[in-house]
Amino acid sequence: MKFENTKIAYSLKTDRELYKSYILFKIFSKNFLVYFGSKLALFIIKVGLPFNFLFRHTVFFQFCAGDNEKDSLKRVDSLSKLNVSSYMHFAAEGQKNEDGMDRSLERVLETLKISKLNESLPFAVFKASAFGPVGLFEKKTKGNKLNKGELAVWNRVIRRINTCCEFAKNENIRLLIDAEESWLQDAIDEIVLELIRKYNNGKEPLIFNTVQMYRKDRFSYLKNLINTAKRENFQVGIKLVRGAYIEKENAKALKTGYPSPICDSKGETDQNFNSGLYLILSNLNCCELFLGSHSEESTLRVIDWMKEKKLSANHSRIWFSQLYGMADHISFNLASAGYQVIKYVPYGPIKEVIPYLIRRAEENASIKGQTPRELSLIRKELKRRKNLRFTE
Ligand SMILES: Cc1cc2nc3c(=O)[nH]c(=O)nc-3n(C[C@H](O)[C@H](O)[C@H](O)COP(=O)(O)OP(=O)(O)OC[C@H]3O[C@@H](n4cnc5c(N)ncnc54)[C@H](O)[C@@H]3O)c2cc1C
Repeated sequence: MKFENTKIAYSLKTDRELYKSYILFKIFSKNFLVYFGSKLALFIIKVGLPFNFLFRHTVFFQFCAGDNEKDSLKRVDSLSKLNVSSYMHFAAEGQKNEDGMDRSLERVLETLKISKLNESLPFAVFKASAFGPVGLFEKKTKGNKLNKGELAVWNRVIRRINTCCEFAKNENIRLLIDAEESWLQDAIDEIVLELIRKYNNGKEPLIFNTVQMYRKDRFSYLKNLINTAKRENFQVGIKLVRGAYIEKENAKALKTGYPSPICDSKGETDQNFNSGLYLILSNLNCCELFLGSHSEESTLRVIDWMKEKKLSANHSRIWFSQLYGMADHISFNLASAGYQVIKYVPYGPIKEVIPYLIRRAEENASIKGQTPRELSLIRKELKRRKNLRFTE
């Protein structure tokens, strides 16, 4: 399995779109441009300057499917024609009052309803902290008792999450729950364990938790979860990722004076990730793997394992997932070889998804090797198309 076939990788992009992606990734390769660009974008939004057009035709359409569900479904359909499934997410962030949290719930329910009507949307997703104040997740994670007022707020958080799960169960759409910062995660894990007990006792898992293997303690968390599943006879769905908040995690640990929960090096994270990966793969009777990674090495590791065990490419318990607008060479080449591939497809009004777009830009600027790889593949495809025109 190689990911070099750029004709397949970029078959959804016109020449113009491909040039635009090239320029964008070129910008992402310069850290200082991303730093100043992010600050400028936030300023422009804050003072209301009319730069929507510029954002829309650059970074927005690279990483987002559209402003609303209807627009996004067009992208979902294009992906499905290439055998790539999707899961949609309203990517607006930072609505922290009760109304905002209720709106977040409505959005998840809306995507669940849409997913029910479309075969290429087998999963939906939510972030637990979109349904409650971060301070309460933090307090619960610390093991502190909530006062009467806080308890009432927390009960509403749990109610929102239960509403999502009940809805997902009735519509038969599987639910992924994102992993967040370590100071919120224990509270999330506690909720998820109860959900898993309640909803994952059929043949297939309905609820998937996310496990960030850049955390030193996650292998033992995973092992305990799988042992509990075997003991209590439920299924576990795991979205396995490396983890997105490394700078924030290390900075907070340093500032507060506790040892960082993050592995000491990329090599250690990779080792931890591989151990988690093999643990899940060797327990596919009670686990389902949802690999959330843009790493070719990790993807090939799973493929090699599947080949060794003589599993079919479309094995129902193994999913490969990438973000919309990133690592298309992995997604489309895998899908054309018959593997189960699913893209995370975010959408939302441009002003509200700017924080998500900035995170993507920063991620592309900071993860070693990812942007040069994207650039070299786009260059290869542009050259291939040019040669083709020349020979025609
Ligand atoms: C479909 C999908 C869903 C995702 N969902 C979530 C989610 O719910 N929660 C979440 O936190 N993230 C999520 N992510 C992001 C993910 O955690 C990674 O940040 C991102 O995918 C990059 O990791 P990689 O495996 O793709 O690539 P790689 O390039 O192999 O790995 C980069 C990652 O390695 C780790 N790393 C880098 N340098 C060091 C170092 N010096 N020391 C220790 N570790 C290091 C970091 O985690 C970094 O992000 C998701 C990603 C995808 C594709």
